[in-house]
Amino acid sequence: MNSKTKKVIITSVICVALLAIISIIIIHFSYYKFSFTAEDGTSISNKSTLEVSVGTSQLPKVTALYTDLRSNKNGAAAETTMTGTADLNHMGEYVVSYTAAYEGKTKTIDITIKVVDKTAPTITLKGGNEITWPLDKDFADPGYSANDNVDGDLTSQITVEGTVDVHKEGSYTLTYKVADSSKNETVVTRTVNVKKVEEAQTINPGDKIVYLTFDDGPGPYTQKLLDILDKYNVKVTFFTTDAYPGHEYLLAEEAKRGHTVAIHTYSHEYNEIYSSVDAYFADLNKMKDLIKTQTGKEPKLMRFPGGSSNTVSKKYSPGIMTTLTQEVTNRGYLYDDWNVSSGDAGETTSTEQVVANVITGLQKNNVSHVLQHDIKEFSVNAVEQIIQWGQANGYKFLPLTETSPMTHHGILN
Ligand SMILES: [Zn+2]
Repeated sequence: MNSKTKKVIITSVICVALLAIISIIIIHFSYYKFSFTAEDGTSISNKSTLEVSVGTSQLPKVTALYTDLRSNKNGAAAETTMTGTADLNHMGEYVVSYTAAYEGKTKTIDITIKVVDKTAPTITLKGGNEITWPLDKDFADPGYSANDNVDGDLTSQITVEGTVDVHKEGSYTLTYKVADSSKNETVVTRTVNVKKVEEAQTINPGDKIVYLTFDDGPGPYTQKLLDILDKYNVKVTFFTTDAYPGHEYLLAEEAKRGHTVAIHTYSHEYNEIYSSVDAYFADLNKMKDLIKTQTGKEPKLMRFPGGSSNTVSKKYSPGIMTTLTQEVTNRGYLYDDWNVSSGDAGETTSTEQVVANVITGLQKNNVSHVLQHDIKEFSVNAVEQIIQWGQANGYKFLPLTETSPMTHHGILN
């Protein structure tokens, strides 16, 4: 063996030895591994990014498994702890650490928490998704608003597309769109039904239509009235209040039996509701919500306390009826007054007089809107005779609907 060969052999032995030592070191320090998994099941590692919706209350849960690479055993659950902070109420990027520990062995990874906005704004349409608009009346949108969890009020950024031809009966669609600063977009539509709103006196001469309407209930005599109406299969309209707490379930009963449940007022306190336009609608909305809760249906018909011609409101807000009659229409409501008064609001307490007043009134109109109060027993007691007379004389009793002709008084305030 010459010296050159010797050198090669020695060099080779040293290399092999070094490789062996390096291998032993590597094996010694990596015979195990930790694998991390986020809450949604995706596996994560050092420098991964997790997206979290702004406003979320807790950081995402991360779990880790410990696996011994020298055995074929499946991973064992490791204990995981998190360090660092992230402000989940503000959009941004935050770095936190997750440490997994198992039998004295640990591994820490750094994760970027990206707080993002994934929630689209909400658009609220005043007057609802479907409104009726009188033919030939200039269109004015009842109004809308938009709110976003991050950007707040976005009303001014709503765009409205679509047109309403008020000179042509039909259904028109308006599209409202808004996006927040994270480009989450919301689109809602409103159907506007343009149609001729006829006054009761001018339609179909010779008709004998009767809309019986009952204000101020439900109350103690409403159940009795419902049973009388069922006996003759007559459907009517209730302009309702919450003046008799404990009787709210009768709103559902009225609807169930096929009657129209309309809004009168929640409180019926003139000094409150007619103190301002806002106060009026606050009261109206409370009644609307109550009816919706009880019947599952949003009422579109309403009657002003005292009628649209009332002058009592002048004491609290001069001119308010002029504004309100316009504004309820803008918000998609149809209001009804009456053209036959039963006199049960103070003029009389006699059942016979109520019957006489109504029968006299019915004979003067093609289409009668009769005002009675189901909170007055003497008036409820008149209903059976009124129906018997009407049915015997060819009158048809109907509930008011959104397509019925409304009757309107003149505005006096
Ligand atoms: Zn009333």
